[in-house]
Amino acid sequence: METKTKLNEAQSLIYCRSNLRRAFDDFDDTDIAGISLVGDNVCITRTDGTSQEFPREKVCAAFTKFTNRLPNFFAYLGPNYRGPSAWRDNGYVLFKGWSYTHSLGERLNPNARFQARFADQLIHFDTKDALLPVLQNEQFDIGYLIAPDGFHIKPRLLDLDGDFDEEQEEQASFGEPYCSCGSFHRQLNHLQAFKEEIPHFKPRCKHLSWVEKYREFISKRSQIRIECNDVPEKCVAWWYAPPEDGNTKGRMTLIHTKSGVNAPLSHWRHYRKGETFTEDDSWELFDNMLEAGYVPYPGDSLQQLKHIWKKGG
Ligand SMILES: [Zn+2]
Repeated sequence: METKTKLNEAQSLIYCRSNLRRAFDDFDDTDIAGISLVGDNVCITRTDGTSQEFPREKVCAAFTKFTNRLPNFFAYLGPNYRGPSAWRDNGYVLFKGWSYTHSLGERLNPNARFQARFADQLIHFDTKDALLPVLQNEQFDIGYLIAPDGFHIKPRLLDLDGDFDEEQEEQASFGEPYCSCGSFHRQLNHLQAFKEEIPHFKPRCKHLSWVEKYREFISKRSQIRIECNDVPEKCVAWWYAPPEDGNTKGRMTLIHTKSGVNAPLSHWRHYRKGETFTEDDSWELFDNMLEAGYVPYPGDSLQQLKHIWKKGG
């Protein structure tokens, strides 16, 4: 009989109840007395003394999938539809989507108000130590410092007596993606143990997934605009009404035209009229419109269409 091994830090983050639940639909997460490893399996000991085994590989896959999940378009959209804002050394501030979380909007949400003020002050924080406590302050919870392509490490002056290996190591660390969130740091702090558990492991988080998707969105949109010399005929105007309370979904409305962005209202048509779209559909909607060659615009930014949303979309 194989021996049971206690979990190290990385293993307890991977083989936890929630990932077991994600990996196995019928997993019963009650009455668990202990979780250990036996060979290629995770062993669950129940309070009544019985035990069950589950393949480790499947739980690892569930962990990776959950860690890489993609939050909706509005989850990390900054004030005034702002994307990640450049800070320094190739790092960006990723704003939590406070402006889009509640129908009361920015005016009445203190986090959103503080965030909007902070967004213009970024330049005054010149070190990570100065920036992070404000950014991740519990009260305002502005967002994260993120470097999807790694921070630029300034080249050191050549030291003739320097240790060559050390220099090489520094170069090797250049370009590693980074996020200041808790999940990413837990992976970074136990990197070796994670690598032993998951082949080719690299720390990841939902914020890095979001930024990747957002960049793809911006780049496809620019591509279409370039192709039509920045005078697109096919345009989509979109509006988003955040949820009225924490338990419901918001509503996304889209209208489209082939007569250019300045076309009067009569030239615009509802997209899939009668269907309701929420923030959960946001990326798919944007993907579809870009795929069809339409350039998306926030409806609020188009003068001739502004009033239709006030009438209730
Ligand atoms: Zn993160």
